[in-house]
Amino acid sequence: MSVPLLDLKQQYSSLQPELLPQLEELCASQQFILGPKVEELEEKVARVCGGAFACGVSSGSDALQIALMAEGVGPGDQVITSPYTFFATAGAVCRCGAEPVFVDIDPETYNLDASQLEAKITPRTRAIIPVHLYGQAAEMGTLLEVARRHGLPVIEDACQAIGAEWRGRRVGSLGDYGCLSFFPSKNLGCFGDGGMVICNDPAKAEKLKVLRNHGMAPQYHHHLIGSNFRLDALQAVVLLAKLPHLDDWTRARQQNARDYDRLLQGIDGVETPKAAPYATRHVFNQYVIRIGGGRRDHVWQGLKERGIGSAVYYPIPLHLQECFRSLGHKEGDFPESERAARETLALPIFPELTLAQKEEVAQAIRELLA
Ligand SMILES: *Cc1c(COP(=O)(O)O)cnc(C)c1O
Repeated sequence: MSVPLLDLKQQYSSLQPELLPQLEELCASQQFILGPKVEELEEKVARVCGGAFACGVSSGSDALQIALMAEGVGPGDQVITSPYTFFATAGAVCRCGAEPVFVDIDPETYNLDASQLEAKITPRTRAIIPVHLYGQAAEMGTLLEVARRHGLPVIEDACQAIGAEWRGRRVGSLGDYGCLSFFPSKNLGCFGDGGMVICNDPAKAEKLKVLRNHGMAPQYHHHLIGSNFRLDALQAVVLLAKLPHLDDWTRARQQNARDYDRLLQGIDGVETPKAAPYATRHVFNQYVIRIGGGRRDHVWQGLKERGIGSAVYYPIPLHLQECFRSLGHKEGDFPESERAARETLALPIFPELTLAQKEEVAQAIRELLA
């Protein structure tokens, strides 16, 4: 039996009957740019994330950039983040002309180790971007306290973590901004690219909306330099149809994780994901195991040969990426991020996965490590 890493077709076929008429209705209106569907989605997603306001944007990457722009981050500035994340987190910092400053991760959660944060703050630091990687909240207690003490805004990269909770509170509304991605493989995915910024401050929320539309307010008057960061109304229609199902899909992901925890128990060399005590709702955008002893690639390859999808997120930590050479980092600078890059493997976790498929994945790993 082959098991794909991700199968979006099953979800689409169950949604198709309710979704297609709504897409047709939008096409009939020809109201493609912003408008009532985007506004309705903003209100609903803000509520899901426990935030007061939301601004629909063109992608998760642009959500990060527009939040940095709203804080006026630019050349000469530094922004602190994790080196073990998708490229876009640090890419957005550089697109503003600023410099990413990395803090190593906690090996149990793969999230920024807040105990190392304060040592990296300099007079040039302008913001902090924690990442809620794989769908589990970062340890926000120390981080928010340090940020507040230094007067630094916190921009949460919640692109993999819509609906996740830190001590019973939804991520995305814990800091000053929360960035979401609606890339198809995220827990709430659209039919292309999309994203959103959550925000609790009305003045900041207004600035985001102006920046998203070329810094234009009123029409053809530009007091800020923004760009086209708009979310398509067509994507908002797709997301409005999917949003009522998000909790069920999240529960299915959590059930898959529990099943894997049980099925993988006792396999020598496999570490299943660790639940952090403060992460009260892990939404499992990814289920990531650790395989030490230099055997990760053997398992990755072996699964592939058996028709089982798995992936390495991420094989090269950001401080060792070619494009960041000018930052002057070398191997050994962030040892836990480097070890995670060598040892982690993401297994299929999409909501429609069957028990037989999970058993197949676990059995294959057991045999490959025997
Ligand atoms: C997906 C993702 C992004 C970027 O989102 P896009 O919508 O693909 O631009 C940023 N950060 C993290 C952690 C992500 O997983």
